Parts: sequence; structure tokens; C-alpha cells
Amino acid sequence: MSHERHPLPVTRFAPSPNGSLHLGHAFSAIAAHDIARAGGGRFLLRIEDIDGARSRPELAGEFRADLAWLGLEWREVAPQSARLASYAAAAQRLRGEGLLYPCTCTRAEIAARAKQAGPEGPVYPGTCRNRGGADATAEGGVPVAWRLDVAAALARTGPLEWDDALAGPQAADPARLGDVVLVRKNEPASYHLAATLDDAADGVTLVTRGHDLFAATHVHRLLQALLDLPVPKWHHHPLLLDDATGTKLAKRRNSPSLADRRRAGECGAELAAALRGRRFPAGISLG
Ligand code: GLU
Repeated sequence: MSHERHPLPVTRFAPSPNGSLHLGHAFSAIAAHDIARAGGGRFLLRIEDIDGARSRPELAGEFRADLAWLGLEWREVAPQSARLASYAAAAQRLRGEGLLYPCTCTRAEIAARAKQAGPEGPVYPGTCRNRGGADATAEGGVPVAWRLDVAAALARTGPLEWDDALAGPQAADPARLGDVVLVRKNEPASYHLAATLDDAADGVTLVTRGHDLFAATHVHRLLQALLDLPVPKWHHHPLLLDDATGTKLAKRRNSPSLADRRRAGECGAELAAALRGRRFPAGISLG
């Protein structure tokens, strides 16, 4: 008889402090919280605060107050700004293995040259891939980003799969995002590298987040294989959409923020109950 133990679910909510949280975030946090709770596991809060220019660290306090107002309980783990050494070490390792190359292209250049639209915007056309890495880093003063050579990485790992709780098994297809940036110009890491490393370090077993990040998971799965990280499962939940535009709720548009609602005296527990029951305010629906 097998006595294999199934780990208790560890989920997380990982907001970026670049704007107040809205109903979509509440829905996401509640989903992650409730899955962990139902399985006797743990729900983590991680502040993703390395988006230097737009990051407003003071919002972290507002986020905590919002989650408490909704009636959630969590354990907070280190913010990304406290983990820069782990990002640098991982980037160094991949660079040492010849899997990253420096890129000096600007957004405008990429937009002008890109031939393909990907899930996260224009797919990088590979301009800097064969330019000779050593020379590019020596271009005094010109900021460089470091991109993952996805073809070389896949040649090393072979085919990969990942599993989504709602969508089922997926064949990893990171090439559809192109050679993504792992180390941004003047920033220690991109979202892809930081979030993948953090989820492993935090022992996350079920990465619960919105469907808008579904495509990013193809890249995260590749990074896990390259960096020998444990492979979690994912749960990409549907997004709350603005009926008028058919687009996801955004931080600065649509409905009032959670903080606005909280300060106006609305009951957070009632709002949480409504979201759990899929009862949304007029003009908002689940995609
Ligand atoms: N920090 C991201 C955001 O606020 C979420 C990242 C994730 O859940 O993987 O959109």
C-alpha cells in the first residue's frame, strides 16, 4: 500500500504596489486564500515591489488593510526588494551557461521590427541574439537588458509540460512569447525571473492567479527546468471583466478601489461573500 503524502496546498497573492487594489484583486486573493484553507494549507502574501519607477512601497500597508477588511488571513513573505541577490545569482548562472544575451533595443525599435504579436505584445524579433554578447556589454553607458535564448534553452531541456487545475495538462510553449527579458535595463530582474524564483523559495505548490498570466507560465516552466526548481501546479482563474469594454478591470479605471470602498464604510465581509457567490456589481462579469 502506498503511503505517499500529498503536500498541503500553499497558494499566494502577489500584488505589485503600483496602484490600489480593485475587485479583480479581491477575487484573486479570495480564490487563493480559500483553496489553501479548504486543503488545510497556507496562503501567502508577497509584495512584488521591484518595478522601480512605478513602485509605491507605501501601498503595501493599504493592501494589508484591504485583505484584512475582506476577512482573509495570510502569512507575509519577503518582498521582492529583499531578494535581489537570488535574482542576480540565477541570472549569473544562466549567463554562465550561455543562455542569456544582452539586448540594447528600445521598445520603439522592437515595435517597429517585430513581425509577430505575442500574448504580451510584440514578439522580440531577435535583433541582438547574434550580435556577440561580450561586445554589447562593453558599450559604455548603454543600458542592456538580458534576454533568454529560448531556442537554446529548449534544446537543453527538451519538451516540458505543466498542469493547470482548470485547463488541464499543457505542453509548454515558451517560444510563443519570444526571447523574454529576464534582467531588465536598470532593474535586477524581470517579473518572469523574480516570480518563478520566489514561488520556489516560498514553497508555493499551487500558483493561483488570473488567466491574463496563463501564457507567462510557459516561460516560468522553462525557467524551473533550467534552474532545477520544483514544479508546482497552477490555477489560472477567470478574470473580472468590464462589460462595457470586454477588458479586464484595471487599477485606475472602472470600479472604485478596495481602499475607497473600505474607507467609505462598505462591509468587506459582505463584499467577500458576494465575490465568493459570483455576485458582481452591475457592469462587471466573470470572463
Ligand atoms: N505581481 C503581479 C501583478 O500584480 C502578479 C504576479 C503573479 O501572480 O504571478 O499583476
